[in-house]
Amino acid sequence: MSTETVLSVRNLKKYYPIESGALRRVTGHVKAVDDVSFDLARGEVLGLVGESGCGKTTLGRCIVRAIDPTGGAARLVIGEDDTDVDLATASKGELRRLRRHMNMVFQDPFSSLSPRMTVRDIIGEPLRAQGLPAKEIAGRVERIAELCGLNTAHLSRYPNAFSGGQRQRVCIARALISQPVLIVADEPVSALDVSIQAQILNLLQRLQRELNLSLIFVAHDLSVVEHIADRVAVMYVGKIIELAPTESLYKRPRHPYTEALMSAVPKPDPDLRDETIILSGEVASPANPPSGCYFHPRCRYASEICKTAAPPLRETSSGHWSACHFADVLELKGVEAVEERADG
Ligand code: SF4
Repeated sequence: MSTETVLSVRNLKKYYPIESGALRRVTGHVKAVDDVSFDLARGEVLGLVGESGCGKTTLGRCIVRAIDPTGGAARLVIGEDDTDVDLATASKGELRRLRRHMNMVFQDPFSSLSPRMTVRDIIGEPLRAQGLPAKEIAGRVERIAELCGLNTAHLSRYPNAFSGGQRQRVCIARALISQPVLIVADEPVSALDVSIQAQILNLLQRLQRELNLSLIFVAHDLSVVEHIADRVAVMYVGKIIELAPTESLYKRPRHPYTEALMSAVPKPDPDLRDETIILSGEVASPANPPSGCYFHPRCRYASEICKTAAPPLRETSSGHWSACHFADVLELKGVEAVEERADG
């Protein structure tokens, strides 16, 4: 992985207006993504994790402009001359030209493929949109299908002839055929059988390395992210609350929310299961978040300052960022720490 920045996200926001009354006046906003900033290096895998509704999928979709952000910037470096473009503010016409540089792999390989197109046509679709000659498209479809572990003799079949795992391979081939620099994979294995998940994860990992892709891997399952990500960003109520190299985050989390997520990772040893931290209270609403630290009503370490002052995301050690007032003093338990304690 190089340290050359490919994507620079700054203060990205996605607010949905709340309307009420007969005149449908805007009375507030659901802040699904709220002021998110981070950089992604060439060839880096960033895991984006958090509970359902934390904003991770919305963030991924805003970056590739599957939906329009409300504000902020997402600058992508593309082409041989390293042109810098802002995806967040690009016009519809510009976006059509930029599409080949970024792509998305969706969670559900059953609904994201047209049942009326052959797999060959589905995979080649992005190249047809670029207006490439049919002969070149045919050659590239065969090559990427092979790279993704698909049987090229089956490319004339329709998606319903393929299993879930094979369909996800088709989705990955379609996402990669235009040689993008950036892929956002939104829970790409969570709709698949457990037995197939490892195969698709291994495929993504191999392709990411071979093609030196920059990958944002959105997941709710921390054990999945641990194996693929170089760094992990944890989201809570639309914000990144911890961002760190994977090993650092798993060994020694610096935010109580991350510690709670870690403790819920399924453990094979029954003696370790009672280590799970039960979070009290509801997940905060992005329409009406609590004052101060959004996590304070559920945090077992909260003190008075947490109710009034919002902790900024700050670097607590090299490359390890946390939005907790007590990140430097709390001794939080990571995955390895829990295992070590059980051994002892
Ligand atoms: Fe908990 Fe306070 Fe840290 Fe928020 S700032 S995570 S409430 S200790």
